[in-house]
Formats: sequence, structure tokens, C-alpha cells
Amino acid sequence: MDFVRGLQCVLCGAEHPVDVAYTCPACGPAGLLDVRYDYPAVARSLTREALAARPHDHWRYRELLPIAAGSPLPALTVGWTPIVPAPRLARHVGVRALHLKDDGRNPTGSLKDRASAVGVVKASEQGKPIIACASTGNAASSLAGMSASLGLRSVIFVPRRAPEPKLAQLLVFGATVLRVQGSYEDAFQLCQRSCERHGWYNRNCAINPYLLEGKKTVGMELCEQLGWRLPDWVAVSVGDGCTIAGAWKGIRELQAIGLIDRTPRMLGVQAEGAAPVTAAFRNRAELAPVDPDTIADSIAVGVPRNWRKAVAAVTESGGEMINVSDREILDAMGYTGRLAGVFAEPAAAAALAGVRRAVAEGVVDAGASVLAVITGNGLKDVRSALAAVGEPYTVPPDGTGLDDLLAKEGLAG
Ligand SMILES: *Cc1c(COP(=O)(O)O)cnc(C)c1O
Repeated sequence: MDFVRGLQCVLCGAEHPVDVAYTCPACGPAGLLDVRYDYPAVARSLTREALAARPHDHWRYRELLPIAAGSPLPALTVGWTPIVPAPRLARHVGVRALHLKDDGRNPTGSLKDRASAVGVVKASEQGKPIIACASTGNAASSLAGMSASLGLRSVIFVPRRAPEPKLAQLLVFGATVLRVQGSYEDAFQLCQRSCERHGWYNRNCAINPYLLEGKKTVGMELCEQLGWRLPDWVAVSVGDGCTIAGAWKGIRELQAIGLIDRTPRMLGVQAEGAAPVTAAFRNRAELAPVDPDTIADSIAVGVPRNWRKAVAAVTESGGEMINVSDREILDAMGYTGRLAGVFAEPAAAAALAGVRRAVAEGVVDAGASVLAVITGNGLKDVRSALAAVGEPYTVPPDGTGLDDLLAKEGLAG
């Protein structure tokens, strides 16, 4: 915390000390807070040379993370996920150069590990042995895994539609799992009330300012891993809006401390059936809640809590918001796997579908270089994957019909 200056309200701009509870005391629940640092001091400490000597995980940016020196960290390695060049996929979606940042390779299989890792450290710093969250899946499974790693208890409120593999992760990691017979919004409200009532630490990204700080590291890593040569666009799918806001904040902070001199444009991608952030961005209006309907469960958010930060990130970067259909998302799961060898869950593949659509609509130039963040691993939602790519062929043991099948696949001698 040596470099943290305070918490600034995104609504009224007031600065608060770090021990204020989750949101602005003056503005209430809509007054989300943003962690501010002493950037000149950070710039003296967080240099390229200093970074070169540090371990490859997301704590390497510790001057820009809101945790105390010496706090115990989860033993699982979070961050520094691979960046994969994808030239065949680039041709398919129609851009000059494409990289995937495969955050499905985090310990519990999604980018949410970055936020949860910071969350469990904050809970233990504050002496809170129980941490809770409401999640469409990945925030929960990552919280459960990080809690297990640090020896905390986790309580998880999940909406009815959470895919089974994510539930399995929760139970394996020893979480207390409460499956709310309702929407994400219902689960969120119940969690909120329970945290207030029982004094548990609340990991909800939307209101806890420290979680977004963890997500920031994806933006910092991509700059560093690309040798400080930034792409024209960074594509990220958007649910609550923390991920895109975090990635942008990380990039901006590296610019603020002089490690990069230009920034990419952010492409925010939503599913057509859950696109209130796109609407707010396009209409320059307040958020109008929707009833979410999409196969991409991780971005099926009807009342995004962080829409203001997301819209600000896209606007400030000179970026765009774009919507894609469930059909386009399923197609993207297939071609991302087939053309790059990366297995993305629906919400992650949505970023690629978004790039393809943005090129088709002339938003992203065919000469552009793009980095798409793969926010979650495809094994988390096998049912959707099978819906995307179909079933295997059936062959009898004596091989009858095999030659015909191979011929159909263009594999016969
Ligand atoms: C949470 C999540 C997102 C979106 O992040 P938000 O902060 O909700 O906008 C995208 N993809 C996956 C796989 C996620 O788990």
C-alpha cells in the first residue's frame, strides 16, 4: 500500500482514505471508488529494469497493486499467461495481425483469478476469514480456489444458469455453494445482504474497488509481453464491465509512469441478448437494465454495476462497443480452436466474434493489429462447445464405412 494515495469516487470525484467501506459514503452504492496511486513515486520504482528481475506472475506490478508489503499471497501462480500469435485466425477474422492473451491458463481457468487473488489478500489483511461473492461462475470458482490456497472460507451465491463444470470447481475447492433459483441480479442482492449481516468480506468486483486492481494486470502484462509495442486494438468481452475497465486502467497507468508512449483502442464486446453497456455507450445515456439472454453465461449481466467505468474506458481510448449474436459466439468457439489451438468458453470467444464483426462493419481496419483477451477456458462449458462443433463420427469396430467418412473429410488416400 506504500504507493496508494486514496480512493476516488467516480461520481463526485471526492478522495477518501483507504479504510472507507466499499463505495463512496456521500454517493452511496452508485459511487464506485477508484484506487489512486502516487504515480511519480511509482515511476521511480517500477522501471523496465526492475521488472526484468522479477518473478513471472501478476504480483510483479506490486507498486500498482493495493496490497501491503509482506501480506501472505496465495501460493497459486496468477497471471503472466501466454500470448499466442494467431496468423491463420487473423486471416479468418480479417485483420493484419492477431494475438490471443490466453487467460484461460490461470490456475482456475479464467481471468477472474487476477481479481480474486487480490480479494483474498485484502480479506486476510483485514482479518476476515470468510469471503463471499455472487457470480455467474468464474468469479466464484476463482474465489473458491484462491481461498483454498490461502486458507480462507468462501461462500458463493450462484445464479441458476451457472454451467456445471464451474459448480464442480466450487465444490472441489471446498466453497459453501448457494444456488439461487433466480438471476445473477438476485444472487448479487442476496450476497450483498449476507455480507452486511455477517461481516464477511465482499468480493463483488462491481462494488469492491480492489478487485479491478487485480484485473488491471492483464493490461500491463500485454504491454510488457509484446515488448512494449502495443497493438492498434485490444478486444475484451464485457459483462459487468470490470475487465475492460481494469485492462484499460493498467495500460493507462503504464503510460502515466512512462513505460509506454501510446495506447491501443479498446473494443468492448457484448452479446446481443445482454448488451446494456453498448446501449449506454452508443446513446451517451445512463444504463437501462435488460433481462439477459445469451449462451455466454459469464457476460449474461442485465444490470452491470461497473458500466460507468467500462464506458469511460472505451471512450477515453477512442474505442468502440460492438454486439454479437449467440450464433457468432458459437462459430467463434469453433474457429478459435481450429485456427489457433485455443479453447475458449463462450464469453471469451465473444471477443473474437466481436473483432470479426467490427472488421465487417468497418470499425476495425483490415490493416490493424489486434490483441484479443481469452478471458476463460472452454473446458468450463463443454455443453456449449459441443453445441458449437457437433458430435464425433461413430465407427463400428470392423471399420465399416470408415473410408467413406475419411473421403468426406478429405482424408482418403
Ligand atoms: C467475467 C468475465 C467476463 C467479463 O468481465 P466483466 O468484468 O464482467 O465485464 C468475460 N469473460 C469471462 C470468461 C468472464 O468470466
